Parts: sequence; C-alpha cells; structure tokens
Amino acid sequence: MSMTSARNTPRDYYDVLGVSRNADEAEIKKAFRRLARELHPDVNSHDPDAEDKFKEAAEAYEVLSDPDRRATYDRYGHEGLRSGGYAPNFEAFGSVADIFDAFFGGSGAFGDIFGGGARGAMGAVQGGDIAVSAEIDLAEAMHGASAEVSYEAISRCEHCRGNGAEPGTPIETCPRCQGTGQLRAVSRTPFGQVVRAATCDVCGGEGRVARDPCHECGGRGRKVERAKLAVDVPAGIADGQRIRIAGRGHAGERGGPPGDLYVLVRVREDPRFVRDGDDLVTVADVPAPLAALGTKVEVPTVDGPVELEIPPGTQPHDALVIRGRGMPALRGRRKGDLRVVVNVVIPRHLNRHQRQLLQELAETMTDHNLRTEEHMFSKLRRAFHHHG
Ligand SMILES: [Zn+2]
Ligand SMILES: [Zn+2]
Repeated sequence: MSMTSARNTPRDYYDVLGVSRNADEAEIKKAFRRLARELHPDVNSHDPDAEDKFKEAAEAYEVLSDPDRRATYDRYGHEGLRSGGYAPNFEAFGSVADIFDAFFGGSGAFGDIFGGGARGAMGAVQGGDIAVSAEIDLAEAMHGASAEVSYEAISRCEHCRGNGAEPGTPIETCPRCQGTGQLRAVSRTPFGQVVRAATCDVCGGEGRVARDPCHECGGRGRKVERAKLAVDVPAGIADGQRIRIAGRGHAGERGGPPGDLYVLVRVREDPRFVRDGDDLVTVADVPAPLAALGTKVEVPTVDGPVELEIPPGTQPHDALVIRGRGMPALRGRRKGDLRVVVNVVIPRHLNRHQRQLLQELAETMTDHNLRTEEHMFSKLRRAFHHHG
C-alpha cells in the first residue's frame, strides 16, 4: 500500500471539441467533423501537431458521443474512465488516415477503432484501475480504521480459467483470420486508398476460438463481479488522500496483470475542529471577567472533553496548546497538538447591579492593568490570521 498524489490528466474533452458541457449529440458530432476536416494531414500539412490534435479530438469524440462514457466522464473525469476499463489508444493505428477512415470511411467500421483494433492482437493487457471512495470520521482518521469498500470489478472466469472454453473442449485456430487475429480491409476514401487492419470479429484478436464457449462467461473468459474489501486506513490520514492497493483492480487480459484499486478517503467534517496539518484547532468561550481572573473550562478533544486551565489575564485569540491531542503524523511517531483559541465573551444585557460593579471596576483601572507587551499593529495582524 502506498500513498499517491493525483496523476496528471489529459485535456478536458469539452475543451478539445470546443463545445459546452451541455452540448447535444448533434453539436458534438458537428464539432468533431469540423475538427477532423481541419486536422486531416492531407488538408493540413503545415501543422506538425495536427496528428496528435486529431488523435486527441478522436478520443474526446469517442467518449462524448457515448452516453455511458460521457456520464462517467462528467461525474468522475478521466480517472473514472480509466477505472471503468476504458483506455483510449489510437497509437496502434498506423496513420491518421486510418483513424479518419474508421470514423468516416467506406466500410463504416466505426466499432473497429474501439472494439479492439487499437489493442493489437494477442498481447497481454494489464487490467484497468478502479477508483472507489471510503468515508470515515475524524476519530477513525486519528486512530486508523478498517473501511469496507464495495465495487464492480472484471475478474477472471474460474470455470474456464479465463480461456473462454468449456472445460475439456478444444480451442482451435480461428477459421476467419487463420489465427492472425487481424483482418485487412482496403477501402477508398476521398483522400485515397487506405489499408486498414481491423480486429477479427470472430476471435476478437486472439487468433483462437473455443469450439464450445464457456457456459459461465459466454466465452469471454472474464466476468463482472461485485467485490468487497476491508481497507486498512492508516492513522493520521487526511481528507482527499488516496490509498493504492496493488492488484485489486480489473483482471488483465491474455495473461496480463490486474490493475490497481485506488481508495479515495473522505474524512467527515467535525464541526468542533478545524484541521491544520497534524494539529487540530478548536475554540473555547470564556467570559471576560473570568479571562481576567483565570478559570477552568471544558474543551472537546477527539477522545472526549478535558479540563483546561485558563490563566489570569488571557486575551482574546490567545491560543492554549494541549500537547499531543492532535492527529498523528502519517509517517513517524510525532503527534500533532490541539490548539484552543480563546474567544473572550464580553457580557451583554447587564442588569443594574452588574453595571454598577463594572462601573466601579472601570474607575479603578490603571495603565498597569491594561498595558500589553504587544504593539497595537501586531495585535491587529494577529487578529487577521489568528491561528498563525
Ligand atoms: Zn468462462
Ligand atoms: Zn480470428
């Protein structure tokens, strides 16, 4: 298990196509066709980046034109698509013309570009990553916890051990592609003749097919299952940090390793505390006369209330520190502190007797009572970033 930060992500698909987030299907299609015409290498030979731009546009179109993928992308972004097992890859297409043809070309093989043609035949493919989130409360973040997560994962079919054939039945060379996994199609386009390699539709690129497909998985060798896992959340974790659990993502294909599981940890807010690194900050109300006299107040900690001594002469925004009652550091033994910021409450709605007492007190005040070591300006500054 290791902590990771967010990966750098590709450009926003809506930006790539230059459409708004609520663009409809027709607008998306139109925007893509316009870009495709602009970026086609036969038209646009002066821009060296045209090919990459076109691939980027094709990818954006491929996601936004599919309602399911678009919904996933809208909710979870690029990461969500990867977790869902969708990994766009146009590199396997020799040229932009091939991609162009796949979208607009004669044989109309729109599906080939995504079905598996881009994957290349026979190679082992690592399974996709999965992202889930787990919510814990502050006490669990402080002490560490076991959080159960549940998610859908593609797993190997155990009935056929992933080879797609009913046990005891033979796997034969694909009669359609003669075992190459690929079909070559020649088509004419407005830009010339294009030879395109497409994945064999019978064997899906494997080159081999089961004579009797597995009854459990229909010959795919993999199936989607709901998985449950108890995740150890380490003490000291902060909201928004992710835990990577290697090998718990989607199963790989053709002997490839599984992907990883990323658990995004959400720490529920506790209204009594603000977290500042490993420290926690809370506020204690102290009536002005008691702040002057000194007193004891009850303050909350994550593990229950404790009594705190307020020394005589405590000023507004003074911070009293209770050592070691903050969050533990994620690595190492150090523990943060609990800082208690004193909110000196000036009494309101005085009755006549109280007014009289305060009046008398006020008349006895001397410079010695009111002088502070601080210059007014630094006091002001402190008030503006109080816990600094
Ligand atoms: Zn099976
Ligand atoms: Zn085949």
